[in-house]
Amino acid sequence: MARFNYQLLEQAPRVPGKPRHKTREVRIGSVVIGGNNPIAVQSMTTTDTHDVEATVRQIRALEEAGCELVRVTVPKPEDAHALTQIRQRIGIPLICDIHFDYKMALAALDHPIDKIRINPGNIGGPERFRQVVRKAKDRGIPMRIGVNAGSLERDLCEKYGFPCPPAMVESALRYIELAEAEGYHDIVVSLKSSDVLVAVEAYRLYAQLADYPTHIGITEAGKPPYAVTKSAAGLAPLLLDGIGDTIRVSLLGDPVPEIQAAFDILQATQRRVRRPELIACPTCGRLAIDLEKIVAELEKRLQGKRLPVKISVLGCVVNGPGEAREADIGIAAGNGKGMIFRNGEIIRRVDEADIVDALMEEVARWEEENRHRLPRTTDVEGLGRRRLPVINP
Ligand code: SF4
Repeated sequence: MARFNYQLLEQAPRVPGKPRHKTREVRIGSVVIGGNNPIAVQSMTTTDTHDVEATVRQIRALEEAGCELVRVTVPKPEDAHALTQIRQRIGIPLICDIHFDYKMALAALDHPIDKIRINPGNIGGPERFRQVVRKAKDRGIPMRIGVNAGSLERDLCEKYGFPCPPAMVESALRYIELAEAEGYHDIVVSLKSSDVLVAVEAYRLYAQLADYPTHIGITEAGKPPYAVTKSAAGLAPLLLDGIGDTIRVSLLGDPVPEIQAAFDILQATQRRVRRPELIACPTCGRLAIDLEKIVAELEKRLQGKRLPVKISVLGCVVNGPGEAREADIGIAAGNGKGMIFRNGEIIRRVDEADIVDALMEEVARWEEENRHRLPRTTDVEGLGRRRLPVINP
């Protein structure tokens, strides 16, 4: 009898990637999340919301960086009063973030906002929550039920002992049921924690029970660079499991870098590929060319290209040809020359000085050849080994 169960390998899927969790679609202004829609990237302003100039300036900087949904806090009446003006001056949907005071939620709903976020654990009980739901329903505005491990209802903490994943999910389900009883279904759910394990397990548990789209994130991740790594550690397992319809990377400080971090996580997990995937070796003593210079130049020249092409740039002939074969386009260097690969075949040899030009020519050729079949989907499901999935504008 064989020592290992080789049958398992034969049965295992050869093309990796799980399908996305099937969720309902929810429209947030011009952006639809859930279903097969692209996983939307969002952020939150750090300004005083009633400081309209500063808030609009920051939102425009976020928009410029690619942010697709933006949230502002509404803790005071003057913040609610500023919402109409802010909404008129920005190009992306506006979400209002409410904690503690349900009256602020009701006040925000008097303005042309695109979504409201409520933390049910601190909004003042079911009756107040119902009032907010009724008004959101009347106004046709969707709501995020934003459960947070740090502000879970006392009875659930007592029931489960501490704010653990099942307690968080029960909180979300409880408020979903209250909203549904009002005939309201424009719901998005988040189950955030600053503890990666708690957040990941809470979202996984939720995904087995309900189909409202999820906003995923690791809350209070802190300061970059650790906060980016921590967010990636929490978001990647969820995204790979197919969970998550909108994403936020929470970073201490300027929110603009959150956008790049979020898109990088979506790119690395292949849930939303927006640019060429550049594979470069870390270099070692075998390095035969100036790889850093080549990669820097290539990055510059690929900027803005919305192509799901995999390009491998490797510094020597040891692993180079093997790795380069796995990519759509690859190069393995040796003795000041570069061997250019297309789909595993060496197609030409060029001098080191000509490597970047040669790679860019191949990228242009790849684009031409593949233009007709570039998928406009966000899901990796069913796409082949070298076929990076999506291109979103
Ligand atoms: S590809 Fe070559 S140069 Fe790059 S790390 Fe591997 S062995 Fe070193």
